[in-house]
Amino acid sequence: MLQDKPFYVILGAVRQPWIRRRLVFIRPLLVLVGKTTAEVGCSYPMRTRLGCGKLKYFSAKHAIKMMAAMKLSPPVVSRRAAITAGAGFMINPKTSRAASEVKAFGLIGDRFHNSDYIRIALNRSIGNGLGVSLDLCDETKMLTADTLKGYKLLVILRDGQSWPDGYPDESTNAAWDNAGKPAIVSDPPLPPTSAKPRFWMKPEQGEAVRHFVENGGSALFLHNVTHIGLTDANFRHVLGAAYAGHPVIRKFKVKVRNTDHPITRGVRDFVVTDEQHYMDYDKDPKHILLETANEDGLTFRDRGATSLGGWAYDYGNGRVCYFSPGHMISVLWNPEYIKLQQNAVRWLLRQAA
Ligand SMILES: [Zn+2]
Repeated sequence: MLQDKPFYVILGAVRQPWIRRRLVFIRPLLVLVGKTTAEVGCSYPMRTRLGCGKLKYFSAKHAIKMMAAMKLSPPVVSRRAAITAGAGFMINPKTSRAASEVKAFGLIGDRFHNSDYIRIALNRSIGNGLGVSLDLCDETKMLTADTLKGYKLLVILRDGQSWPDGYPDESTNAAWDNAGKPAIVSDPPLPPTSAKPRFWMKPEQGEAVRHFVENGGSALFLHNVTHIGLTDANFRHVLGAAYAGHPVIRKFKVKVRNTDHPITRGVRDFVVTDEQHYMDYDKDPKHILLETANEDGLTFRDRGATSLGGWAYDYGNGRVCYFSPGHMISVLWNPEYIKLQQNAVRWLLRQAA
């Protein structure tokens, strides 16, 4: 069956070293060369889905050499196709049903928010829950105008920092913390690094997000994404806010402030244990949908016990929605919060409820 497939490859990516670097670590990486197949790390379910059981195994390097020997010119493959392949879909974007359904690109995960719980949560609430195909990625440089082409929805749950020189300590590693923070020994010793964070969003990335939404795309922003608002003016203009901080994880109530909106329809107030985020909100108060309130009266700095929990508005030809909860999978899966996320995606995509 595989031999009957047309010539289609993701090897086009090898012409662009930065994609190649990613793909080497993406499973499954599958390379199909005419009637010859080469596969790297292709999972059994993937082989089954392709209807083939006799794939030859080559290294990616060998497959590339083989193509060169066959004088095959790798076609250009879009970043979207590369991401789709990484997400485990079939590879040919023209023939793949899954790829043709892709609508949302998500940038998730940072030092303080591992991408795994976010991926699991969003795949259930938005992916499986709504039938939206999500291409989720934790590589900030993938957020470009080129990547966003072809997507209808952008989702971001991550902060504005990256740590290319490593961390100053392992305090965000739960297993190390649970072990009682044992002394960290390394022999030979680790080379010293600055271990300082950097703002990752480049001006062209902020512009890309702004143009994407202005031109009819929509954006679902979650939780600590307000932190990016501190780092880029265009991004802040789209999001409508910038991060102001949060107290330690505690219980608070998420209250629906505007019950007359498609996003909050049928949603009751709910209680969660999470980071209660505070922010400086820039837009018209009429767009506010939710607020968060610590009902024990616990405040944060001089900002009181209540903060904003979410808002939504039209932006250019597109739409924007933000919700502040999201530090843990338990909050992302609160049934009322799932309703909010799903209502929001329907509203952002202009789908009937
Ligand atoms: Zn958080």
